[in-house]
Amino acid sequence: MTITGGNNNMATKKTAAKKAAPAAAKGKTSAKAAPARAGANKPDYNIDPAATQKMTDRKGLFFKFPVGNTSFRFLPQFNNKPSIFSKSVLHYTVKTDDMQRNIAPGCLEEHGEGQCYICAFVDWLKETEDPVLEKIAKDLTARPQLNVQAFVQDASKEWMGPVIVGVGSKLAQDMSSLLSMAKDNDLPYFCDPYMGETLVVNRVGTGMFDTKYTLMQTGKRGSLDTLIPDWESRVIRDLWKKLDVKVLNVTEQKKALHRTYPDLPWQEIQKAIG
Ligand SMILES: [Zn+2]
Repeated sequence: MTITGGNNNMATKKTAAKKAAPAAAKGKTSAKAAPARAGANKPDYNIDPAATQKMTDRKGLFFKFPVGNTSFRFLPQFNNKPSIFSKSVLHYTVKTDDMQRNIAPGCLEEHGEGQCYICAFVDWLKETEDPVLEKIAKDLTARPQLNVQAFVQDASKEWMGPVIVGVGSKLAQDMSSLLSMAKDNDLPYFCDPYMGETLVVNRVGTGMFDTKYTLMQTGKRGSLDTLIPDWESRVIRDLWKKLDVKVLNVTEQKKALHRTYPDLPWQEIQKAIG
């Protein structure tokens, strides 16, 4: 599904509404599609641009914790992966070849079969002891993220999603502890779709150093079939695929670094790290 598709649908709706206007002009102000004419077997539709937008907006896929309490139904991975998390290790960021966007390529140490050129580049930058280059190194250092899928309750208590939640090490450890405790005590896992539990994450603070996350159990257990009747059609079946990690080979990584940092002494760098 693409944004173009969504726009097309919206355009179709506008056209339909315009065409229907003369007949419906008398007092009809609703934006609903015109009712099918008698005898015509027209398929019905009811486009909601907001719903279309939500599905096409990739940013909406990744959840950001607001300050305060947020309720989640976390889910396992559905393709026989034994961990609730899908791990990505990304370098933030390099320019795409059209220079229009930034991408965060996966670190080859984690997602490839060889040495990662960006990691070698980061090490070289650090050794220069030049504050500007060290800052680039800091930004570009590979960062691991543990990703988990969840349905999340919005302010009106509606279950939204699924979203992908990137959790830091503390939340990840707390979730792992809950899973171990459940196993030791023969309890259902909180991420079980049928017998799982709503968990709350409390966020305090917004800064680098004062942000704290606390995981809390609610005791509210039950089947997603009741909470979110269409969960099976919404759920992400392959979390790793959905994460869409861009893996560049060494040659592509080099090119990406050259275009992102054209002013660096590349001859010297090549001598040092190839
Ligand atoms: Zn790397």
